[in-house]
Amino acid sequence: MEFKPEGETIHVCVAGDHGVTLHLSPVDDMAEALVAAASEASDYVTEALGAKGLVWPQCPMHPRTHPLVAEQRNETAVWMCPAAGAVVAKIGQLQR
Ligand SMILES: [Zn+2]
Repeated sequence: MEFKPEGETIHVCVAGDHGVTLHLSPVDDMAEALVAAASEASDYVTEALGAKGLVWPQCPMHPRTHPLVAEQRNETAVWMCPAAGAVVAKIGQLQR
């Protein structure tokens, strides 16, 4: 799984998959654009992996349970655990 922000587009691909290129919305707020793109990427990957019962990004606190949710906190785009309401990592800095 790759998540590469490059300029105004983000390329997402899952192993053995052709991947998808997401275009960042033309907004001034980079954090907002990242959150939107990360949400789209998560939806795409979760759909692609759904048949295998996998989710992405996987919550480190609750493995194989639910994906993390992209949100904006204090002007920063982050991945949150929706169950614990806790910030897991900044978007782009998630550990594999
Ligand atoms: Zn969780």
